[in-house]
Parts: sequence; C-alpha cells; structure tokens
Amino acid sequence: MLLKNKKIAIIGGGPAGLTLARLLQLQNMHVTVFERDLNQYARVQGSPLDLHEDSGLKALQHAGLIEQFKQHFMPKADRKKIMNAKAEVFLSDHDDQLEQNFGDPDFRPEIDRGALRKILLESLLPDTVQWNHQFISMQTQANGWRLHFKNNTTFYADLVIAADGANSKVRPYLTDILAFYSGITMLEGYIVNVKQSAPEIDQLLNGGKVMAFGHEKNLLMGQKANDEIGFYASFKAEETWATAHQAIFSDRIKVKQWFKSFYSGWDAIWDNLFEHTSLPLIPRPIYCMPLDQTWQSQANLTLIGDAAHVMPPFAGEGVNVSMLDALNLSEYLCSGQFSSLQAAIAAYEHEMRPRAAKMAEYSLENGERMHAPDALQNMLNVFQSH
Ligand SMILES: Cc1cc2nc3c(=O)[nH]c(=O)nc-3n(C[C@H](O)[C@H](O)[C@H](O)COP(=O)(O)OP(=O)(O)OC[C@H]3O[C@@H](n4cnc5c(N)ncnc54)[C@H](O)[C@@H]3O)c2cc1C
Repeated sequence: MLLKNKKIAIIGGGPAGLTLARLLQLQNMHVTVFERDLNQYARVQGSPLDLHEDSGLKALQHAGLIEQFKQHFMPKADRKKIMNAKAEVFLSDHDDQLEQNFGDPDFRPEIDRGALRKILLESLLPDTVQWNHQFISMQTQANGWRLHFKNNTTFYADLVIAADGANSKVRPYLTDILAFYSGITMLEGYIVNVKQSAPEIDQLLNGGKVMAFGHEKNLLMGQKANDEIGFYASFKAEETWATAHQAIFSDRIKVKQWFKSFYSGWDAIWDNLFEHTSLPLIPRPIYCMPLDQTWQSQANLTLIGDAAHVMPPFAGEGVNVSMLDALNLSEYLCSGQFSSLQAAIAAYEHEMRPRAAKMAEYSLENGERMHAPDALQNMLNVFQSH
C-alpha cells in the first residue's frame, strides 16, 4: 500500500479537495485539508453548479454521497430561457413536461455551492479540515514537505495535493506554467430576497436560468438557494478592465451608469439586476491554462481541480473535471497497481492533462460563440442540438 502510514495534506477545501479527502478517508488514509477560509460560512459561495453524470455525479457516487446530493439539489434549476437584449424569449424549456432524471447523461442537476460544500464536509471525520490555514510556502523535508501557514503554524506531509484553485500558491513548486487571459471578463452580482426586491427578474427566472445574448455581450443569471439569484454580466475586455474599473464595484450610481452605457440597447428590465444587487460586485477576469501544458511528475506533490487546469466557465465543466480528478487520483493512489508514488502520480497526471485540455478547449470555443456578433443564433443551435 503506497500510502500506508503516510501523512497526506490537501491544500484547499473546495469541491476538488473535499471530494478527494472523502474518497481517501473511505480507503482509511490519513488526510488533512488546510483551508484559508475562517470557517465553513466565512465566504459567500458563488452561483450554483450543475453536476454531470460521467464526472461530478460519478465522483459523488463513489464517495457514497449521491443520496445526500439528491436531497439537496435544486429541481428545475437547470431549466433555461435563451433571450436577446430586448428581453424576448427565443427558447425555453421552463414549461416542458419532460422530466429528466439521474442516470440520463443529459440531466445536469444544479446544486448550491454552499450545499455541496456542506455535504462533503459532513462526510469527513472530525477535524479533517483545518480552517484558517492559508498556505504560504513549503520546503522539502525528508521525503516530504514542511508546510507553512499564515497563522504561523507548520505541518509535515509525505504527500501534498494542491487543490487551492485558480491562483494556486502550491502549483509553482511543480511548474512555472501560467494561465493566460481568455479575453473575457465577468462581473458577478447576487440579489437577496429576490421575490420582493426584483419580482420581474424572479418571474423571468421562474426558479431556473436565463441567458441573454446581444451586442457581443451576455447577461447570465440563475436561481440560488434561499430566495437568492446570482448573475453575471459577461463581455470581452482588456485584461486590465477590472483594475481600471475598481471605483464602480461598490458604488450603485456608478455601476448603474456603467451598465446603461456599456449595455446600451438592452431592455430596461435588465436594469433591475444592478438596481438590486448586493455590493460590491465581483470582477472575474477569465483565465485558462495552456492546453498543451506538461511538467515532470514528482513523488510527493500533485495538483487537482482549478489548480491544475483552470478553464473558462462557459461549458459548466470546471467543477466536474475537478471532482473527476479527485476520483481518478484516489483510484491511482489506492489501486495497488503501481510500485511507487511517483508512478501512480505520473499515471494520474498523464490521464488528467488531456482530459482537462479537451474540456478547456470546448470551454474556450463556447466562450467565443457566446460573445460573437451572432451569439444568440450560436447558442440556439447549441441548445436545439441537445
Ligand atoms: C464566474 C465563474 C463561474 C463558474 N461557473 C461554473 C459552473 O457553472 N459550472 C462549473 O462546473 N464550474 C464553474 N466555475 C468553475 C468552478 O468554480 C471551478 O472549476 C471549481 O470551483 C474548482 O474547484 P476547486 O476545488 O479546484 O477550486 P476552488 O473551488 O477554487 O476551491 C479552492 C479552495 O482553496 C482555498 N484556498 C485558496 N488558496 C488557498 C491557500 N493559499 N491556502 C489554503 N486554502 C486556499 C479556497 O479558499 C477554496 O476553498 C465557475 C468559475 C467562475 C470564476
């Protein structure tokens, strides 16, 4: 057994890190997750995630958590309307009678990020997650690593798994390859008590999603738990757009002026998003790892999730690829097929890189389709072909 009596440190308690921790604990491994958040509730979790049958749901199935998922997913939140800037509906499955269900490869049930995190956290042994542990640096010690955290604690691990997301601080210990800017920036907001504060938007969403395309820009919105909705304005912009526009994100008057002028020609109903959003808005320049990235595998360090392969969110694949990384890595580590940790890690990375690159390529292409002059027609073609 490669990991017998070995200490495993997972850096980052997002979907990838927590799924891996659960899968390794099912194999009786000694695993600790180090997470920078102060606690489970310290941060507003972003928009819901749709999990896919052959990846995200498959990982949950292996983690023995599919029944918990079924109790907490949001039925019908996957239903969508495709609209234009003038708020005309071109395609909607909101009123379809057809009920999809688990086992159907096209069924993509949505779950609130907070609910998914809770399911995973509750499946772990007590004290598996060390909150308020922001990874700062590490150095080699014996055959492993001495980890250093911002709270001045240290920890020895025989194996370190980086699951610390798109801006991974662990990744540079394995490779200096950097993500490139995709050319698209998203501006994220959310509205609480939406039924009361923005009833027109609530009715439009009807518990599902709305995607509006026009003038090479998008508005994307979806139901969250607790009478909240999340939304994104998505558009092509210089990489420096977020820094240059910092002054508007906390200022309602400025952000409304920006929207009116940048989304000129869009129907007045969309103004509700910026009238009622909680502030500050969060700018999200969208990055992607090079599709042909590669590195020399090590015996005591590897990457999963966005730390390995951040990609644009335009195909809803990021979390699914990440959770499948967790499943596949746990199987490579625990299968007994490999003679050394280095061989198991190399096999995992050899499988992971092209699988993630395929999804990243599709996500980049979808991003282009969604922000093209004929984006509406493009997206109608995509959804009608399903
Ligand atoms: C705007 C936007 C919309 C998206 N929409 C979708 C979607 O609809 N569907 C989809 O599949 N994917 C979507 N994604 C991508 C998805 O969010 C990621 O692919 C997924 O969260 C990756 O999971 P992860 O666990 O690898 O990383 P993360 O979810 O980023 O988790 C990383 C964790 O590590 C912690 N951490 C970070 N640094 C440190 C440190 N130094 N020390 C300790 N802990 C640390 C963080 O606090 C966090 O908890 C979207 C992404 C964005 C930006």
